[in-house]
Amino acid sequence: MGGTDTALTGPDLAAGVAAADLKPGDRLLGHAHGEAVLLARLGDDFVAIGATCSHYGGPLAEGAIEGDTVRCPWHHACFNLRTGEALRAPALSSVPSWRVERRGDRVVVMEKVERDPLAPTYPMEHRADHTRDGADTVRAVVIVGAGAAGAAAAEMLRRCGYAGRVTVVDEEKDSPYDRPNLSKDYLAGNAPEEWIPLRPANFYADHQIDIVRARVARLDVQGNRLELESREPLSYGALLLATGAEQVKLGLPGEEGPHVHYLRSLGDSRSIIAAAGSAKRAVVIGGSFIGLETAASLRTRGLEVHVVAPEAVPLERVMGRALGDFIKALHEEKGVTFHLGRKPARIEANAVVLDDGTTLGADLVVIGVGVRPRLALAEQAGLAMDRGVVVDELLRTSAPNVFAAGDIARWPDPHTGERIRVEHWVVAQRMGQVAARNILGAEERFDYVPFFWSAHYDVSINYVGHAERWDDVRVDGDAATRDVAVLFGRAGKPLALATIFRDGESLAFEIELERAAERRGPTERIPMTE
Ligand SMILES: Cc1cc2nc3c(=O)[nH]c(=O)nc-3n(C[C@H](O)[C@H](O)[C@H](O)COP(=O)(O)OP(=O)(O)OC[C@H]3O[C@@H](n4cnc5c(N)ncnc54)[C@H](O)[C@@H]3O)c2cc1C
Repeated sequence: MGGTDTALTGPDLAAGVAAADLKPGDRLLGHAHGEAVLLARLGDDFVAIGATCSHYGGPLAEGAIEGDTVRCPWHHACFNLRTGEALRAPALSSVPSWRVERRGDRVVVMEKVERDPLAPTYPMEHRADHTRDGADTVRAVVIVGAGAAGAAAAEMLRRCGYAGRVTVVDEEKDSPYDRPNLSKDYLAGNAPEEWIPLRPANFYADHQIDIVRARVARLDVQGNRLELESREPLSYGALLLATGAEQVKLGLPGEEGPHVHYLRSLGDSRSIIAAAGSAKRAVVIGGSFIGLETAASLRTRGLEVHVVAPEAVPLERVMGRALGDFIKALHEEKGVTFHLGRKPARIEANAVVLDDGTTLGADLVVIGVGVRPRLALAEQAGLAMDRGVVVDELLRTSAPNVFAAGDIARWPDPHTGERIRVEHWVVAQRMGQVAARNILGAEERFDYVPFFWSAHYDVSINYVGHAERWDDVRVDGDAATRDVAVLFGRAGKPLALATIFRDGESLAFEIELERAAERRGPTERIPMTE
């Protein structure tokens, strides 16, 4: 995954700095041995780790220090300040750490601590020889879906020292890859191909993670077995379902035309890029995040772009009026033409015809009208369902040894007190990681505050928390000046915060929600079916 390197700045920490310059909890950005280094003081200890987030290169020195950890201001990854270990997705890889020596009244950053990249790093009591229910060892873990949740789960099993078989089944040939990038820099032509795979080519084989390219046709929870199309069936000791979501199809007349595209997979993104090479006018149907990010990327490529959507203000339902108006104005400023309050009636070879008869010339059409979770396997297997696969706080489904994570899973969220399902990259990865640890018997509650981001041109909107409905919106700042925080609350309780260029506030709100949940204590169990 690509990113930017934090430029070397600040003092040379290898030459040492005065210990008195840092009070407990302070941090200092500097460099040592040619690399950007974050020096921090934790109580009386001085610690030093790489200053650049291993996800997209965010500046950790501008993040939030919480206990022995630092959170990245860009997408809320979290690292152990003592070891550099990646504790929270979207970071999958650790950052380096350096030994720090106290010399009189100075602290000096010494040599890098070398680590075996294959060594188990995640602190868990339950290692390879653990048992579940005090009895049978998990001999084989099978994961359906090599997306955000599935890939993160497979890695976490190895990081926990699990030595049994790990098999990930996915029908796509390129997975796992950086899906959020497919509508953003990659589609815009600003991200090279090598940023897209989550890991180098041999990574999974090197970690004995077997990726099977096949479609899973059926799940037999009584027989602990998966039936694969054109392959031998697979037995599992524990199973993680992480089948993600798929684009909602409109079924419009003319939709099967070669110039009409949906966007979910890397293959889809590549097809749109190929078509954009010769296209001049694009129509994006749908004012969803993916639709609008696609519009931005096609504008960046120089195409004329029209967006057709039924709502009056795009994204208002999710982000509120102030941010919806801002997003619309931002796209208009960049040359996008909106046709709001309108639906497409049909697609022709060179045009999209709207429900009021307007004809928009189009040699490229992208439909982005939302997604639906891929639930067929879980439904057919008879798992408890509620607009998604119902899981408990440990991400267990209603079937023994079957877990679910990512876009398909509806979990009891301690922050809203409701069972929720979201379609966020970071949430899916973290769910995959927690499910993996629970497969190994960790009994860890999934209680992360949801987080997602969406990028349009050079503006990124960060959203932390979850507010499906709200009765209070407080806007602080001005979206038009790209300096705003919008707080959504219900019944006097803050639920979510959307920010533009206010990363510190976004992190602080995440920590505030976590502390509020800790103060409330474990919530009463939300039943599997309501
Ligand atoms: C273009 C785009 C941009 C996005 N941008 C953002 C963003 O900016 N921020 C954000 O937070 N979220 C974003 N998202 C959403 C985010 O990517 C998803 O929430 C996340 O990928 C969900 O992870 P998952 O593991 O549940 O599913 P997925 O990542 O979708 O992976 C599911 C995998 O399961 C496989 N699969 C499904 N069924 C079967 C079967 N029967 N047999 C074999 N394989 C199967 C699929 O091939 C797929 O590889 C974006 C999504 C898209 C499509």
